[in-house]
Amino acid sequence: MSESQRGSQRGFATHAIHTGQEVDQVFGAVVPPLHFSTTYAPDGIGNLRNGYDYGRAGNPTRTALQSQLAALEGGGHAFSFGSGLAAEDAIIRALLRPGQRIVMGNDAYGGTFRLFDKIHSAWGVSNTPLDLSDHARVAAELEHDDAGLLWVETPSNPLMAVTDIAVLAEIAHAHGALLVVDNTFATPYLQQPLALGADVVVHSTTKYIGGHSDVVGGAVVLGSGDAATGLAEKVAFQQFAVGAVSGPLDAYLTTRGLKTLGVRMDRHCSNAQTIAEHFEGHSAIERVLYPGLESHPGHGLAAQQMRGFGGMVSIELAGGEAAARKVAEATRYFILAESLGGVESLMNYPHEMTHASVRGTELAVPENLLRLSVGIEDVADLVDDLEQALGGL
Ligand SMILES: *Cc1c(COP(=O)(O)O)cnc(C)c1O
Repeated sequence: MSESQRGSQRGFATHAIHTGQEVDQVFGAVVPPLHFSTTYAPDGIGNLRNGYDYGRAGNPTRTALQSQLAALEGGGHAFSFGSGLAAEDAIIRALLRPGQRIVMGNDAYGGTFRLFDKIHSAWGVSNTPLDLSDHARVAAELEHDDAGLLWVETPSNPLMAVTDIAVLAEIAHAHGALLVVDNTFATPYLQQPLALGADVVVHSTTKYIGGHSDVVGGAVVLGSGDAATGLAEKVAFQQFAVGAVSGPLDAYLTTRGLKTLGVRMDRHCSNAQTIAEHFEGHSAIERVLYPGLESHPGHGLAAQQMRGFGGMVSIELAGGEAAARKVAEATRYFILAESLGGVESLMNYPHEMTHASVRGTELAVPENLLRLSVGIEDVADLVDDLEQALGGL
C-alpha cells in the first residue's frame, strides 16, 4: 500500500509522530504536556476553553491520542477507552438494540465471545459464531433482519485465520449490516480495514499499539463520510454517558507507543517470519500457523490486504498437550504470560490461559497449540530459545 492510497497527505510514520502532537503554545514543550486535571475553568459561565469542562467528557491528552489513532487508521473519528473490551461494549451499545444479533467468526478472541455471550446476550443482543470463510453461510445469516453487525477478527487469535475484509464488507452492506473489524493483531500499520470497506475498527491498544506491556486500553475508529459521522455521534455519546474512558496517563503511554509502531511492526514481522520458516517442518512440530508462510491457507489473501504478516505465530506440537505444556514452561526469553504485542516475546497456552473461557464451546482451541507473540529481540536468540525448549521434549 503506498502512502497516498492510505487516504492522507502525511505518511504513516509522520502521522504517528506529529498528529495530535503540536508543540505546546505556552512553554514550547515538544512533547505535549500530560493533563491530569479532572475539571476545567471556563472563561466565564458558558464559555468553555476549547470545549473542555470535565474529564469524563474530554481531556486534551486523550484528544491527542484520538487524533493520532484516527489519522493512522485513515479514519475521521476515534474514541479511546479503558480497555479493548470496553471499546467493544461501547460499539454494541451504540449500534445494536435488544432483539438484534451479532454474526461473528467462530475463532474470535475468547474475551470478545465471553462479552457477547455472557453479558450482551442477557440484555437481548444475541450472537451467531460461524466460519467466516464460508461466505454463503455469512450471507444467509445476514439475510435475517435481526442481524445488525458482522464482527471480524483478522488475522484471528490464536488460529491466525485470514478473512477477506473487502468481500465481507460487500456482503454486510448488501444486507444492511455494518462490518466491524478487530484490527488488534494487524495494527493500522499492516492493515487498514476502513479503506477495505469496514464501517468500524476496534483495537485492544493494550497489545501492539501500546507496545510495551505497560498500559491497558482500547479504541474505536470510524471513517469520515456522513454515515460515519452519524455512527461517531452514537459512539461519542456512549463514551461520555457510560464513561469507560482511558485515563490521562494511559492515553499518554499509548500515544508514546504509537509513535514507534511502524518500526516495531517491521521488526515483529521479520522476526516472526524467520521463526515460522525455521520451525516449519521441525520434527517436534506438527504445524506452524503464520500467514507469512506459503503453506498458510490465507497467505495470498494476507499478502493482498496486509502490508506485512504480523508478529503472531502459533505452533501445534506433534507431542500433543503434554509437549505443549512442557515447551511453554521451558523457554528463557519467551515469557509464559497472557497478552501479546509487547517488545518482549511471550508464550501463551491458549487452551488454559487466554481462551480458557471458550473451552467446550464452538470456539475452543486445540490442546497442542502454543501461541507466540514474537518480540523485537535479536531473532537468533529467540530461535535458540525455542530450539532448546523443543530439544528437551
Ligand atoms: C486482548 C484482545 C482484546 C481485548 O482487549 P483488552 O484490552 O484486553 O480488553 C480484543 N481483541 C483481541 C484480538 C485481543 O487480542
